[in-house]
This record gives sequence, C-alpha cells and structure tokens, in this order.
Amino acid sequence: MLDYDEYQKKLEEAISKSTFRCRNCNYCYSVCPLYKSMEGFMVNGPSGIIQSIYYYLKWNLNDAEQKKNLTEILFSCTTCNACVIACEELSAGIPLLEIIENGRKLLVDNNIGPMPFQRNALKAIYAKGNPYNFDSENRLAWAKDINIKKLPDEKADMLYYVGCSVSYDPEIRNIAVSLVKLMKNQGTDFGVLEKERCCSCAANRLGDEFLFQEMSQQNTKSFVESGVKSIVTTSPHCYNTYIKEYQGLDNIEIQHYVHMLHNWTTNKKIKFEKKLNYVVTYHDPCYLGKHNGIYEEPREIIEAIPGVKLVEMKDNRKMSLCCGGGGGRMWTEVKEEKRLANQRVEQALAAGANILAVACPWCHIMLQNAIKDLEQEENIKVVDISELLAEALAL
Ligand code: SF4
Ligand code: SF4
Repeated sequence: MLDYDEYQKKLEEAISKSTFRCRNCNYCYSVCPLYKSMEGFMVNGPSGIIQSIYYYLKWNLNDAEQKKNLTEILFSCTTCNACVIACEELSAGIPLLEIIENGRKLLVDNNIGPMPFQRNALKAIYAKGNPYNFDSENRLAWAKDINIKKLPDEKADMLYYVGCSVSYDPEIRNIAVSLVKLMKNQGTDFGVLEKERCCSCAANRLGDEFLFQEMSQQNTKSFVESGVKSIVTTSPHCYNTYIKEYQGLDNIEIQHYVHMLHNWTTNKKIKFEKKLNYVVTYHDPCYLGKHNGIYEEPREIIEAIPGVKLVEMKDNRKMSLCCGGGGGRMWTEVKEEKRLANQRVEQALAAGANILAVACPWCHIMLQNAIKDLEQEENIKVVDISELLAEALAL
C-alpha cells in the first residue's frame, strides 16, 4: 500500500530533479505534435509543460484558475514520446514524458486533474472495467457467432487480449474478427478471456496510480491463472502497458499482433489468395514506433502482400505525426488550430495513398473521423493491417 505523503514527495522530487537540467534549447519543440497543432504558446510544448509543473510546485500556486490552466497544459500532451527522443539525441536527455506523467499523478492525487471527460473514463474503469462505460456482459458480443475458446475454463497456449475499443466499437470490431480468422488459418492455439478487463493504460496515462495498481494486479492474476504461455494484443497501448508497466508477467511472452503477422509473412507461412491493387501508406502508432522502435515489421507485412504498393508520408517512423488520440485524449476534445488527425490524412493523400494502414484501434478511430471531417471518404480509407492481410488471404 502506498503512503500518500511519501508518494507525493517522491513525485515532487523527481519532477524538480529532472526539470532543473533543462537547457532551454527548445529542440524538443520542433517535433512536438501538440505544439504544431496549437497556437504556438510555449506552454503547449514539451519544455513549457515541464516548466509549468515545476513552477507550480516551486511557487506553491493555489489559485483555481491557475490549477485549471495547469490541468489543461498537462493533460493535452499526447504522450507520443517524440520530445524524449529529440532531447536524448540532441540535448540533455531530459525524461520529459516521465516528468509530465509524474505531474499528472500529482494533480490527480491533489484532486486537481484530469479534465472532466477524462475523469468519466476513469470512473467507468472503476465501475465497469472499461473506459467507455459499457456493460461488461457485452464485451464478447463481437464474437457471439465465432467459435473461440474462453479462458480460463478452456485452455490454450496463447491468450488473444482483445482490448476495450475493439470489443465495444462496432466500427472497428472487424479488426478482432480478422485477427481471429488469421489465427485460425495459421492453426494457432488461442483463446480469449471470458472476463476480460481494461489493461488500464488509460489510468496510468491519466495519472490514477491507485486505479492502475488495482487493475494491473487483477489482470496479472487472471493472465497467470489462465495458464497461457503468451499473450498477443490488438492495441499497441495494451502491449506497451503489459511489457513496461505490469509486474509478474515475466514468464509470459507478450506480443503485439504485428509481431505475430510479421513472423508468419517472413517465414512464408502465409498462402496469399488475392492480389490487392492498393496504394498503401502506413501510419506509425506512437506506442509501437516512438515508444518501442517497431518501425519496419509493419511495413514488411504490407510489402509482402501481392499487388500492394507502399508509399511513405512526409513524416514517418520516429518523425511520424501522432493521430492525437494518445495520452488520454481519446476522452476529451483538445482545442487545436488544426487537428492532428486531419493533418495526418492530408499527408496520406499527398503521398498518393488510397489506403491508410494502421495497427492501433485509437489511430483507426481518429483517422477515420478525420477522413469524414475532410469529406475524403471517396479517396482514402483507413484499414488495419490485419484486415489487409485477411483480405489478401480471402478469409
Ligand atoms: S530539448 Fe531537452 S534540454 Fe532542450 S528545451 Fe527541450 S527538454 Fe530542455
Ligand atoms: S510527448 Fe509528444 S505531445 Fe507530449 S510534449 Fe512530448 S512531443 Fe509533445
């Protein structure tokens, strides 16, 4: 059990110690999507965000308006990690994201943050085990006509961890269906959890350490008790959370589904049935790319599909532009001069693509909404890599 005073003191010390090292060189601004999409205020960029929390602590600010502003500054960050990479490569190596997330925890612990709609997401995880406030009984509705093993009563080598968005959102449920078809096609011994719950990456991003601890302990227990040897996730966010933020999963191999698909395509285990005459561009999700260095595998899967031409957007790999949905922004509207997802769709169109391939449910939702917003439905479509592969196998 965490001691509140000790917890706050540790957060404050960590923030002050690291922020103090900032050289104010501003290299980090050149890569920050938040700064690019806002009106150019320095507090809406990496160094400005960390200075805001630093001076809040140093000057002991307590005015209600200041607290509201500080909450907006800290909880607008997409947690994309671009600034961390830039500062590490070009300057002092400040752990910007760690400071921002520690700042968020501090605000939540003092009942200041997060932003109102983000609070609702946290309450929903507490109450229903998912951030969308849907009933847990309907979590497996997407699979009602599919024969899939249900763990832990049935046993399998691998757990397919579906995740909340794909489980509940009818517009993207086909990602789970495609992955299941592919796993069956490849003879994978897998199952889903009868009672899956949110990985709680949202709790961690939104600064609710206590909710995260509770959920991660429950989930770890159910994964271990299911007896699986490996877990494959739909979302890079769940993947990142399990490999970096959970404890007690050392004996279970964790993969994002891109690893599994890449393994099948490079080992020539896939028998393609169709040529897909698409011009595809790939949008790097932050939690596969900038957080975990997985840039080439998704591209190699796409390139293995007969007929497909892969083109690159202006910003790609570690310079990839964030879709704007990470860091808890799926649950709130950040006022932007130009929406990040719209900028990304424009980059995909400029690259000549008619398919915008993704490997993350949140990127899928954000970019598909941007296509509608820009009225570009006739010209470009968002498709998950698993859906592309399933189509090429005629599944
Ligand atoms: S790049 Fe690093 S050292 Fe330079 S302003 Fe940004 S955080 Fe500070
Ligand atoms: S994590 Fe991304 S959005 Fe947040 S401050 Fe750094 S570069 Fe900007």
